[in-house]
Amino acid sequence: MAKDFYQILGVEKNATADQIKTAYRTLAKKYHPDLNKGDKQAAEKFKEASQAYEVLSDPQKKQMYDSGAYNADGSGGGFGNFDFSGFSGGGGFDDILNFFFGGGRGETQRQSRGEDIQVNINITFEQAASGVKKELHFAKNKSCASCGGTGAKDGTKLEKCPKCKGSGKTQYVNESFFRRTVNVRPCDECGGTGSKILERCTECKGRGFNRENITFTADIPAGIDDGTILKYSREGNAAKKSGGINGDLLIGINVQPHKLLKRKNLDLFIELPITLTQAAMGAKVEIPTAYGKITYDIPEGTQSGQMFYIRGKGIKAANGRSGDLYITAKIDTPKGLNGMQKKLLFELEKSLSDKQQPKVKSYKDIIKDL
Ligand SMILES: [Zn+2]
Ligand SMILES: [Zn+2]
Repeated sequence: MAKDFYQILGVEKNATADQIKTAYRTLAKKYHPDLNKGDKQAAEKFKEASQAYEVLSDPQKKQMYDSGAYNADGSGGGFGNFDFSGFSGGGGFDDILNFFFGGGRGETQRQSRGEDIQVNINITFEQAASGVKKELHFAKNKSCASCGGTGAKDGTKLEKCPKCKGSGKTQYVNESFFRRTVNVRPCDECGGTGSKILERCTECKGRGFNRENITFTADIPAGIDDGTILKYSREGNAAKKSGGINGDLLIGINVQPHKLLKRKNLDLFIELPITLTQAAMGAKVEIPTAYGKITYDIPEGTQSGQMFYIRGKGIKAANGRSGDLYITAKIDTPKGLNGMQKKLLFELEKSLSDKQQPKVKSYKDIIKDL
């Protein structure tokens, strides 16, 4: 009887941490035992929601739950009655041990992976729409060319680590009344590399990497949106131990807002101010897009707030998809008319038939009947 924690909280599978929190808070308020004295059903619902939240609010438990490894009927505490069959962490029993007991694999990976580099850049609205190449300058740890990242002086051999005998791992066996657990950790003597340096590289002083200022050209794809993070895998810092992998380069994209256009995904929106005359008689108007200006025919009799849309004139993404352009007409009613102007407008209004202003006419009719 597997319970669906997402269903219990009433959120989507891809809900954010905030959405999960809000959903739980709402339910907790509704079913809290203090507010529902003696109501067994409410108490059950409160318990269920709390259990679901306990799991989904904890990234590690959530990951286990999402992978199908979490025992939904358990309290979330012990691992004793775990169902390993649903575990999809990638393989053998070793993986399962590492996964649950925080052992070898995970930690080795953390230790031998370089740090990510995060750089933020500002680009214009048009650059985001069309794509742009940007040169970035930053410092990063690069694997030492002189020693190949080993940290050992050129020509000097590395010796097998005496503690782990070159495996890079040490195991601790833990036996209790209930179970026997094997705890695999990176060797603390060699930091998981399995080797020992006899003489240090003079270039990097045995660190295996050097700090260098580099220039990186980021090819920002067309259609990128504000707040996107571009990830260049393995372009970050070199690992601190040889044989490791580089971290990633993360480029945060800040897009300057456009003066007139608002963007939502690939669609663009604009409020177009038009004159009374343009609204009444129609007009050709210039409208900006992310790729230059276009001319648009506002039809005769355009109403205030009326929306038009032009297919395909939104943002064009690198994958070939494109959004639409939505135009909302806003009549800019003239202010501060002088006597002469008022007279002209009044003459015009007098000449208008009910048919020419049907909304005003029907409003008047309804008001009369009320
Ligand atoms: Zn070792
Ligand atoms: Zn070196």
